[in-house]
This record gives sequence, C-alpha cells and structure tokens, in this order.
Amino acid sequence: MSKLDTKLKIAIQKSGRLHERCVRFIESCGIKFPKNKSVLKAEAHNFPMQFLFLRDDDIPACVAEGVADVGMVGLNEVEETAENVDIVKRLGFSKCRMSLAVPKNMEYNGLQDLSGKTIATSYPRILQNYLKENQVEARVHQISGSVEIAPSVGMADAVFDIVSSGSTLMSNGLKEIKPTVLKSEAVLIANRNLDTEQQAILDKLTFRMDALLEAQNFKYLMFNFPTTSKEEIVNIIPGLKSPTIVPLSNSNWSALHSVVEEDVFWDKIDNLKSAGAEDIIVLPIEKIIR
Ligand code: ATP
Ligand code: MG
Repeated sequence: MSKLDTKLKIAIQKSGRLHERCVRFIESCGIKFPKNKSVLKAEAHNFPMQFLFLRDDDIPACVAEGVADVGMVGLNEVEETAENVDIVKRLGFSKCRMSLAVPKNMEYNGLQDLSGKTIATSYPRILQNYLKENQVEARVHQISGSVEIAPSVGMADAVFDIVSSGSTLMSNGLKEIKPTVLKSEAVLIANRNLDTEQQAILDKLTFRMDALLEAQNFKYLMFNFPTTSKEEIVNIIPGLKSPTIVPLSNSNWSALHSVVEEDVFWDKIDNLKSAGAEDIIVLPIEKIIR
C-alpha cells in the first residue's frame, strides 16, 4: 500500500458510556467523520483514519490481532482481557474505580474476612489476580451483569464491580471496601506491530491528543494589579515561560495574562488577592501545543 493510501484503523465503542466521550475527544482533535448510528465502519473526511464501531469487550482483542491498529477503551477492559497491546496514553475521561463491596451489615475488618466467601463479578481475571496478590482464598462467581443484586438473592457474599458515585452499591444495601482495586479511565491502546506509516499517523494523532490533555490541566488567567506589586505577582504566577504584563492607561495599574495549573489554581488566587490583584478572569484553554 502506498503511503497516501495508509489509514490508521481505530476501534471505538459502538454505543454505551464510552461512545460519546470518544467521539467528542476525536472531534476535538480536529478529525471529522460521518456519524450514523447504524454503520459499523466510517472514514474520516480530513485525516487518514478509519473507524470501527465495536462492543467495548472486543476492542482489546481486535487491536491485539491487528483487525484495528489502535483503540479507545476502558483500562478495566484492557486489564480484564489481558490482550497483547500497548497502552499508549491515558485519556483522562470515563474515570471510574473497581472495588469490592460487601453487605452493609456484614462485619468487615480486612480482606481476610473474604476467605471462604463467594464473590460475584463480571471481571474474574482482575479479581482473581487481586485475591492472589493478597493471599485471599475466595470463590469467584462470574456473571455478566446486575452484579450488585448477587448478595441479596443469595448468589454471593460479596461483589466486585465498577463504581463511580457509589449510589448503586448503596441502593443495593452494599458498602464499598477500601482501598480501590483498580482506578480506570479511557485509554488509547495500539497494536504492537504497527508499520512505520501507521506509526507516523499514530504520532500525529497523539500529538493532537497531547495538546488537548495538556490544556485540561491549565486555566487562562487575566487580572489587574498595582504596578508596585509586580515582583510579588510574578513570583506567584511564573507562567509557562514568563507571564505577559501590559500597562494600563493609569500607570499605577498593570494587567497580567498567563496560564496557571488547575491543581494549584485556588491557592494562587488567594495569594494574588493578598498581593492586590483585582478583576480576576479565568478561562478554560482548548489546546496547548508545546
Ligand atoms: P458494550 O455494549 O460496548 O459491551 P458495556 O455495557 O460493556 O458496553 P458500558 O456500560 O457502556 O459497557 O461502559 C463502558 C466503559 O465505561 C466501562 O468499561 C468503563 O471503562 C466505563 N464506565 C462504566 N461505568 C462507568 C461509570 N459509572 N462511570 C464512568 N465510567 C464508567
Ligand atoms: Mg462491554
């Protein structure tokens, strides 16, 4: 196949919790493709990429076997299927945790309390590995859905499942056991034998993804401050290289434009106010290209 004809085949979920988020993420990378719920394949209009829409359970195997070159799927599915794929990147969305839970009224003092018990799950491999690592001898009962009802119908003593808010567990009379077994989020996976042309397209894709992921960690910040506080202000907001400072028509005042990390954002705001900053405006950033 000539260089011009090569397309990177990407597998994404056909429908479900990951579908919308993956489509939005790809579109934010500037890649456009026709959206028609009934088709299982689509070609991007403006990027050498072909989409395959699959059940999420099937994505890791399709990527491992080369049916697709890359895929977007939950880390939980990658771990459960243990297929031979590279995890290229964590994508920062569809975050959830995988936890054990027991009936609210069960006395629970530690993992050894699960010895000899039956645990229902749709993720037997992840659970078996965790039990083995922690030397807990429990029986794993695999079911494909509605895991949370297993204890109340006498099918199991405990469950192991995906949790986001914990409200499903609570409404089924269960309490979550800490620590969390696995923290999951959507990941980009790739076949281990991409040729150089496929790899070049993947590099182009991850370059765009990095610009989005990087931007999510930062906010754009603008504010006015008394010119005499300049040194103090620049110490608080060093910027990516150095902040932009512009004079106002009243020379007693200046304005600063910069980016600030989301994590430390509120601490910075408190410090800025103490240094005399006023009229603080904060904006989301769409992309940062390094
Ligand atoms: P499919 O029909 O494709 O097999 P599914 O029913 O197995 O779909 P979904 O419920 O659509 O799966 O969930 C897809 C993925 O979304 C999960 O594997 C997990 O990574 C993530 N996920 C599941 N539940 C949650 C949640 N409550 N919060 C956030 N992410 C979640
Ligand atoms: Mg599935």
